[in-house]
Amino acid sequence: MIPGRPEVDVAVIGAGIVGLATAAAFARKRRSVLVVERHDAIARETTSRSSEVLHAGLYYPPGSSKARFCVAGRERIEERCARLGIPARRTGKLVVATDPAEVEVLERLRRIGTENGASGLEIIGAEAVASLEPSVRAVAALFSPATGIVDAHALSLSFLAEAEGAGALLALRSEVRGIEKIAGGYRLRVRDADGTVSSVVCAAVVNAAGLGSDRIAALAGLDVDACGYRLHPCKGDYFALAPGAPVRISRLVYPVPAEAGLGIHATLDLGGRIRFGPDARYVETASYEVDATRREAFAAAIRRYLPDLRDDWLSPDYAGIRPKLAGPGEGFRDFVVAEESARGLAGFVNLVGIESPGLTASAAIAEHVASLVASV
Ligand SMILES: Cc1cc2nc3c(=O)[nH]c(=O)nc-3n(C[C@H](O)[C@H](O)[C@H](O)COP(=O)(O)OP(=O)(O)OC[C@H]3O[C@@H](n4cnc5c(N)ncnc54)[C@H](O)[C@@H]3O)c2cc1C
Repeated sequence: MIPGRPEVDVAVIGAGIVGLATAAAFARKRRSVLVVERHDAIARETTSRSSEVLHAGLYYPPGSSKARFCVAGRERIEERCARLGIPARRTGKLVVATDPAEVEVLERLRRIGTENGASGLEIIGAEAVASLEPSVRAVAALFSPATGIVDAHALSLSFLAEAEGAGALLALRSEVRGIEKIAGGYRLRVRDADGTVSSVVCAAVVNAAGLGSDRIAALAGLDVDACGYRLHPCKGDYFALAPGAPVRISRLVYPVPAEAGLGIHATLDLGGRIRFGPDARYVETASYEVDATRREAFAAAIRRYLPDLRDDWLSPDYAGIRPKLAGPGEGFRDFVVAEESARGLAGFVNLVGIESPGLTASAAIAEHVASLVASV
C-alpha cells in the first residue's frame, strides 16, 4: 500500500441494518467497501431489539427525513422481501382511542399520515374495531392497512450478502477508536478483540454506529453539543404474552402515541407470538436487562385496549435502547443524515439519532447516503 492512499473507497462504521444497507448501496455502485463492527456478529444492538414493524409513516412531521425515508424505505423493503423471500407480512395496524378525547389524535395522525404518503388510512368506529379484533376495546381506531412486520435479522443478512457478493468486506470484533482527517480521506484506528490496533485508510466514512454515533462524530473532531448530535439513550422493555393466554389479535394494536415513544403496543412476530412494548425511560447505562417489576404497569397500560389481560399472562422478554436526540421533555428531533463538507469533513457522513422508524427507513437512508458521496 502507498502510505496515505485509500485502501477502500468507503468505510462504514457499524453493522446494524443501516450500516449494512449502506454498504450494499455503495457496493451496488461498484465502490469498494469495508464495514467495521465492534461485536462478533452483525445486528447485535438496536436492530435486533426493535418491534420489527414496517411503519407506514403516521407519526412524523410531513417533509421530515423520518417521514420521507420511512415511506420510501417501506416500499423498498417490501419489494426486497418479496423478491428475495425474506419473511415479512402486511398485518395492518390499529391505533386505538380508548377515550373519546383521544379521537382527535386519530384525526391528526390520519391527516399527517396521508400527507406523508401512507396509503388507505381510515378511521373506524367501536363496532368495526370489535369485528376486526374481538379482544380489543376502543371507542374508535385509525386503521393503517400498509403497516407490516419483517424479520429484521433476515433483512440484515440480505444486505450483508448483497454487499459481500459485490466485494465488500466485513471486519467483526473491530472497534473504531480514532479517526484522522488526512489528504484525500480518513485514517481510522481500529482495535481488534486482542487489543491490537491497526489503521485503515479510506476516501469516505459513513458513521452508522447507532448508540455510538455521537462518540464517532466526536472522534472525527466534531463538537457534538454544538452540532446537536448528543444522544440521550432511552430504554424500552418488552413483555411477552404467555402461550395459550386467551387473547387473540391478528393486526398490530397501538395506543395513541406517548411522549418519548409510540406507547406500549401489541405486536406480532412472524411466528404469531404476541409481545407488548416498548415503554420509554431515559437511561445512563446500556443494560438490556428487562425490569420485571414493571409487569403491573405494563398490564395496566395494555388493559386500556385489551381489557381481559391478566398480569400473570405477561413475562419479561427483551429490551432495546433508542438512540434519541431529543432529551426528556424535548420536542420532535429528526434523523441526522449529514455529509459534513461544511464542517471541514468532506466525504464524512454522520447518521445520528436513527431511532424508530430507522429499520423501516434503512433502505432509503442507504441509497441517499450513497448519492451524498457519489464523487468518491
Ligand atoms: C425498542 C425499539 C423498538 C423499535 N422498533 C422499531 C420498529 O418497529 N420499526 C422501525 O422501523 N424501527 C424501530 N426501531 C428503530 C430501529 O430499530 C433502529 O432505528 C435501527 O435498528 C437502527 O439501526 P442502526 O444500524 O442505525 O443501529 P444499530 O443496529 O444499533 O447498529 C449500530 C452498530 O454500530 C456498532 N458500533 C457502534 N460503535 C462502534 C465502533 N466504535 N466501532 C465499530 N462498531 C461500532 C454497534 O456495535 C452496532 O452493531 C426501534 C428501536 C428501539 C430501540
